[in-house]
Amino acid sequence: MVEWQVATVKRVLVETPRVKSFGLDVPDFGRFRAGQHVDIRLTAPDGYQAQRSYSIASAPEGADELQITVELIEDGEVSPYFHDVVREGDQFELRGPIGGPFTWTVNQGGPLLLVGGGSGVVPLMSMLRRRAAREGEPVEAALLYSSRSLDEVIYRDELERMAGEDQRFDLSLTLTREQPPGWSGGARRVDMQMLDGVIDRLGEPGMSYVCGPTGFVESVASLLVDRGLAPETIRTERFGPTGT
Ligand SMILES: Cc1cc2nc3c(=O)[nH]c(=O)nc-3n(C[C@H](O)[C@H](O)[C@H](O)COP(=O)(O)OP(=O)(O)OC[C@H]3O[C@@H](n4cnc5c(N)ncnc54)[C@H](O)[C@@H]3O)c2cc1C
Repeated sequence: MVEWQVATVKRVLVETPRVKSFGLDVPDFGRFRAGQHVDIRLTAPDGYQAQRSYSIASAPEGADELQITVELIEDGEVSPYFHDVVREGDQFELRGPIGGPFTWTVNQGGPLLLVGGGSGVVPLMSMLRRRAAREGEPVEAALLYSSRSLDEVIYRDELERMAGEDQRFDLSLTLTREQPPGWSGGARRVDMQMLDGVIDRLGEPGMSYVCGPTGFVESVASLLVDRGLAPETIRTERFGPTGT
């Protein structure tokens, strides 16, 4: 059983209007794999406790802090607390790393297909950061990332920089609700045509990871199976009930 530990917030980063990242100091946090998550437990003065899972955003090696990224769910219990209350120096309970199948290690190789919806990009970012930090030539990788609007694209600067600097990384954004003038990326939900385009450029994926709201994950995973990818090469992680 993974023990509860105390995490201290080292810094708070505003990623988008509805998303913040938290750099954490967790002194005894063990080794983890990209794609794993932690459980967070908050305790109110009256003893009431709330517990939620958050994917690890930072890379397993080379990062000097454990990072999580939390999207605000307006009527939620825990995510508004992170957004409105948590400040540098605050502490809360955390345990991890947790999660087995939804992980990628450099040894698993590629080509690596990542498909994320909304905050589902978080564990995929840990994989991309891990991939970027490896020595030698990185595996071919593609991220197809669905957001409502350009403002809501988490880690946008870092992703665009990675794509600009790395010929072996292909970034495709699709904006489902609102596109800026002159937008040349995707402008609808992820569909077969979009996946075909990404896979044609990438090559047949050795592993695929799909993460996001439940409906998004189910639809993308069944498209990948319909396209003929072996089910055992497709890993999924569901964050919550709604669609992006
Ligand atoms: C393995 C795993 C990893 C996760 N990683 C992340 C992460 O990296 N970043 C992140 O922001 N979230 C992540 N989540 C989701 C997270 O655990 C919470 O569910 C989310 O923050 C909402 O919690 P809340 O207390 O604010 O809302 P709740 O009080 O639990 O829910 C409030 C309302 O919002 C709905 N709801 C709950 N979750 C979602 C959602 N994700 N999208 C839309 N509606 C929702 C509920 O059905 C309810 O109606 C992860 C979930 C899992 C299972």
